[in-house]
Order: sequence, then C-alpha cells, then structure tokens
Amino acid sequence: MTRLTVPAGSLFGPANLPYGVYSVAGSAPRTATRLGDHVVDLGVLLGETGDDAVFTAPVLNPFMAQGHDRWAEVRERIATAVAGDIPDGAVHHIDDVTLHLPIEVADYVDFYASEHHAANLGRLFRPDNPDPLMPNWKHLPVGYHGRSASIVVSGTDIVRPSGQRKGPTDPAPIFGPSARLDIEAELGFVVGTGNAMGEPIGAEEAERHIFGAVLFNDWSARDIQAWEYVPLGPNLGKSFASTISPWVVPMLALDAARVPTPAQDPEPLPYLRMDPPWGLDIALEVEWNGEVVSRPPYAAMYWSPAQMLAHLTVNGAPTRTGDVFASGTISGPEKSQRGAFIELTWGGTQPVTVKGQERTFLQDGDEVVLRATAPGRDGSRLGFGEAHGRVLASKTPRED
Ligand code: MN
Repeated sequence: MTRLTVPAGSLFGPANLPYGVYSVAGSAPRTATRLGDHVVDLGVLLGETGDDAVFTAPVLNPFMAQGHDRWAEVRERIATAVAGDIPDGAVHHIDDVTLHLPIEVADYVDFYASEHHAANLGRLFRPDNPDPLMPNWKHLPVGYHGRSASIVVSGTDIVRPSGQRKGPTDPAPIFGPSARLDIEAELGFVVGTGNAMGEPIGAEEAERHIFGAVLFNDWSARDIQAWEYVPLGPNLGKSFASTISPWVVPMLALDAARVPTPAQDPEPLPYLRMDPPWGLDIALEVEWNGEVVSRPPYAAMYWSPAQMLAHLTVNGAPTRTGDVFASGTISGPEKSQRGAFIELTWGGTQPVTVKGQERTFLQDGDEVVLRATAPGRDGSRLGFGEAHGRVLASKTPRED
C-alpha cells in the first residue's frame, strides 16, 4: 500500500480530484484521478464491478452518464480513499503515463461569451460599424456548431490548415496555407447527462447536467475565417483542430470559484434569467514559445455556462453525454488579458515581442500552452494541466 503526499503549492491537491484517462506502456487506457504528482487508477482504487465497472472504460462517458448524484457520491469516495492507504497498483507517477483524450466527444458548440473579445473582433472585422457588438449580442449567447472529431488532447501537433482566402485588395481568392493562424484561449464545458429532444434544460437546472470543465484552445485561421464567414458563420477556419487539457475538473470542485457574472443589461429573456447568473473566477495564462503573453480572466465573461446550456437547448435540441460547449475566447478589458493573437496584435498591426522576436500570428514550429488556476474549497488553487500544441507546416501547398 502507498500513502500519497501532495507537494506544497500543487494544483492537484485533495480539493481538485480531476478526472482523466491514462495508460502505461502495454496496457489499455483507463480512467484516473490525479493527486499531486501521481495518477491514481479509479478502478483499482474504488472497484470494477457493478456501477463501478465504468472506471475500466477508456473514456469518462459511461461514468458521466450515471448522473449528478453518482458524481457527488464518487467524488466523496475518491476523497476518502486517496487520504488513506492506496493499493500500489493504483498509483503511477505522472511522468510514467500517457494521458489520453478523456472523453468521447459527442457534439460540439462554440460560444462567444466575452464582451471584450466580441467588441474587439467587431472593431477589427467591421471597422465601419459604429457599435462593435451586433444587435443580438446582449440578448443571447451567440454560438455556432463545430466539428467534434477535431477536438484533440494536449500534446497533439497541429498541422497548419490550408484554405481559401481573399484580402481586401486581392482581385480574386487564392488557395494555400493560412498566413494568419491564431489561437483562442477558452474553457470547454462537458455535458455529463443530456436532454431529450423537445425538452430544454432550464438555466437553473443546467448545473446538474454539466460534469466539468477543460482548458480549450480553439485554433483559428483568421484569413480563411474572414473570407468564408458571411453570412453563415465560422466553418473551415475553425474546424481543423481544438486542443483540450487532459484533466476534466469537476464542477463540484469549482464551487469555490463561482462568482456572479458582470451585470447583464438589458435583462435577458426569462429562459436565460438566473438569480444571479454565476461565472467562474478562473485565471488563465497563454504561453507562446515559453513566454507568457496574456492572462485572460474567466470571471469577466458576460454569459454564464448555465445560460449557454439553456440557450443551446431552448429550441428543443437534444444534448448527449460527452457534448462539449466552449465559452469562446476569454478576453478581459486590458490588452494584457486578450485571449487571441488577433486581438493582442490588433489584427497583426501591433506585433508583440516573444522571446526577443516581433511576432503577430503563428509560425511553423511555434508552441502554445494554456494553463489556468481556480480557487479550491480548502483555500488551495486548482489546476487543469496544460493545453499544449505545436504548429507543423502545412501539408497542402499553395495553388495559384
Ligand atoms: Mn472559439
């Protein structure tokens, strides 16, 4: 048996207990939690029969499908078990395991919930419009449906996408590798239990459906996006890859991070009203080639996760275990809090210095890492691990 200790300052103390999927060489992926620098196998820790058979699955979906009461019960059992003697076979050092995509992603929606980001993009994409926000923006959480198969786990390389683009002075569109490859620092929320078609999830009941949160980097090709997005919204400029953290931090661990959203004025329609809408005090950082270039604050997000899920289903759309809805780029009011490089460099016109070099958009070989911390119930800080990706050269050459 083993008694685990948590290093001082660890983001994976007993107030976190995130969920993930790991493997060691020669064995199949299984579910796990993390304590300090160790991964703890949930099947070995808690059991593998009856309801606990879900812990031997290669994804979290069967466990998530058991519902909110079961998530609460299992969290209590994990907390008790990891505080005592743990079977040796359950414990692996983090350096000795491979972490996998923790969920089978069902459907994926990306929102646009930061007023600061939406206003900055409005100024950049529609400079002649006097109001940077579109008329609908403060009445509903704007979003679009993305490509679930493009969601990958941290550490997966990102191949530069190719596509059509046409700059304002180009006489005709060209095809080739994106020249304005960007990131979007976001949080993703994982739906644990969905709703039947025609039976929307109310804003106040949404928290019983949301299993947890992940870091989410929505890689974006701005030149492809700018040419394609009118009038139906993002398509190929977004659908090639999004990177998530390997750890899903349970919403039950994020209780202490709840804060009211910024005041919502005008008052939303009744189906979006909450008393009050709660956001999350999660502090992100964006590291570009080893240098932190931005610190986006999730607490500044206008729409709450519960309002996003309520809106997503209000038309009767069904959701399923494993659905992911992401927040949209997280940007605060300060320049140093902008969660996308198009904002940070103002459309590429104001380069930032990264490791002594002037940079605007991503170059081949660049690496981006998202990290975040949140307050835990016991006064500690909680972490998500990393959402890390490296840009590889396009495999599709330019055609003229
Ligand atoms: Mn996005």
